Amino acid sequence: MKTCAFCNINKKRIIAEDDNFFVVKDIYPVTDLHTLIITKKHIQSFFDLDIKKQKLCIDVVNDQRKKLLLDDSTITGFNVGINIGKDAGQTVEHCHIHIIPRRKGDMNNPKGGVRGVIPGKQNYEMLDL
Ligand code: 5GP
Ligand code: ZN
Repeated sequence: MKTCAFCNINKKRIIAEDDNFFVVKDIYPVTDLHTLIITKKHIQSFFDLDIKKQKLCIDVVNDQRKKLLLDDSTITGFNVGINIGKDAGQTVEHCHIHIIPRRKGDMNNPKGGVRGVIPGKQNYEMLDL
């Protein structure tokens, strides 16, 4: 697609690929080595992949996790995430998965992780329930 950032990505940025996916480092990384797994085809989201392709995609997530751990011994955790739809924060409407390496002390209180997509809801123990 002409206007899509991932259809037009600079091929020099690709660090791994197979028949269905390519892998790049995010140009605006949340943490060092923030990695994106991107479909070669312009498909809107993970849920638009058939189950076989979804499984193949998860294989790439596993491969990249292993590689990241080998490359950087300071990584102590990950957030793996997909923004699906504008209302969930998706900005590039081309299927991709974020692998965000985490390191001890990279923020004050990481408790709740991906719950932080809604500011103020990350740490459920601090919510007035
Ligand atoms: P979304 O918000 O759609 O889940 O994520 C889009 C991600 O793609 C963002 O984290 C953003 O930094 C990243 N990004 C946007 N344009 C480019 C690009 O041209 N190259 C790379 N490597 N990452 C991009
Ligand atoms: Zn695209």
